[in-house]
Amino acid sequence: MSNFEDTNLYFRKAAEIMDLSSRAQTLLLTPFREIKVQVPIELDNGEIAVFSGYRIQHNDARGPMKGGLRYHPQVDVEETKSLASLMTWKTALVEIPFGGAKGGITCDPKKLSLREIEQLTRKFIQQIHENIGPYKDIPAPDVNTNPQVMAWIMGEYSKFHGHSPAVVTGKPLDLHGSQGRDEATGRGVAYICEEVLRTHSRLVSGCRVAIQGFGNVGSNTARLLYELGAKIVAVSDVTGGLYDPEGLDIRALLEHVRTTHSIQGFGPATTITNARLLELPCDILIPAALGDVINADNVAAIQAPIIVEAANGPITPEADELLERRGVTVVPDILANAGGVTVSYFEWAQNIQQFKWDLAKVNDELHKTMVHSYQKVVKLATEKKLSLRTAAFIIAIGRVGKATVLRGF
Ligand code: NAD
Repeated sequence: MSNFEDTNLYFRKAAEIMDLSSRAQTLLLTPFREIKVQVPIELDNGEIAVFSGYRIQHNDARGPMKGGLRYHPQVDVEETKSLASLMTWKTALVEIPFGGAKGGITCDPKKLSLREIEQLTRKFIQQIHENIGPYKDIPAPDVNTNPQVMAWIMGEYSKFHGHSPAVVTGKPLDLHGSQGRDEATGRGVAYICEEVLRTHSRLVSGCRVAIQGFGNVGSNTARLLYELGAKIVAVSDVTGGLYDPEGLDIRALLEHVRTTHSIQGFGPATTITNARLLELPCDILIPAALGDVINADNVAAIQAPIIVEAANGPITPEADELLERRGVTVVPDILANAGGVTVSYFEWAQNIQQFKWDLAKVNDELHKTMVHSYQKVVKLATEKKLSLRTAAFIIAIGRVGKATVLRGF
């Protein structure tokens, strides 16, 4: 099953409970616009290389479309369509005035120099600049893109349209980025963990957490939960994992990663595989790396009673069904990792107003948004005896559907 069909499955499950007609379902599922462009650049060795760039604009009923740009060898139309539609439901769920989009370039940035990545980015924006904009579609960082890439996008777009910081979010602080954007997704995940534990009458302090992925999302989640007193019993990156049932010293681990660029070789912890990390005894499991890591093959071995989806699509629909039957609480990606796009919205709003918020204001507004959204989802799930995922999709689809009807097709 393709990624897009996976996402659509969750959509259809919710849409059937809502009694949405099949025509309305088709209208909401079909991407508004699919852009594929040729991105040729001159490599450092003088040869010409041609890449494919995508921007899938899924839905703009509630506002300009919003979503990241991914540079990865596996970027393709199906994956981008799936991620674009997830953005539509995510922005609706947390009630920010955006629709959903996603894009990327099929490339391996590890094999490209900084100059080549800059050329690739600028050429891509030259191809799509008419289709993006502060009130049309606003890109942001995703896998292998960062504040520097966002700065190049702003620069290139502004050559055509004049000074336009609000065309892209996740920019460096020195170029109209927002305080707190860098850690916003991890901070949002930590806020959700606090809330889900509260629902289970538990505190973060002393709670055992295992986190797969120690990049932007995983490491910030680990640091913030550690500061709240959680025991981070395991973390991993692409090279493998670390386990200590007494809890890892996350501050020391962050310092180790800063100097060595890997979690390997850190202190007294036992090394484990990424597969084993998912099956450890713990109170909360947080997949924060890749999609489809919890699937039909390993779902029976998962011991955590709570899973918070920090990554996009880390659980396959088949495994999701089995976890639901077993009573495992799964906080879905469209809620759990919405902190990043929420602070992107704050950045866009600051750019439009040419005004700056301080970090305390950003974090306070983020906290309000995450807690309010979580409570709405839990209320509906409890009232209608639904999973958190189905409840989240029902709320999101309802908002996008209403906006579509009110505007007229
Ligand atoms: P990142 O590139 O900063 O970090 C990814 C981490 O995953 C790294 O530690 C990497 O070593 C690890 N990893 C890579 N391949 C792996 C493998 N095969 N097994 C185990 N670990 C592996 O990316 P990120 O920004 O932290 O994003 C992580 C996930 O969160 C992605 O699914 C992304 O779409 C999602 N997400 C990110 C944001 C954001 O603001 N960054 C927002 C929403 C969702």
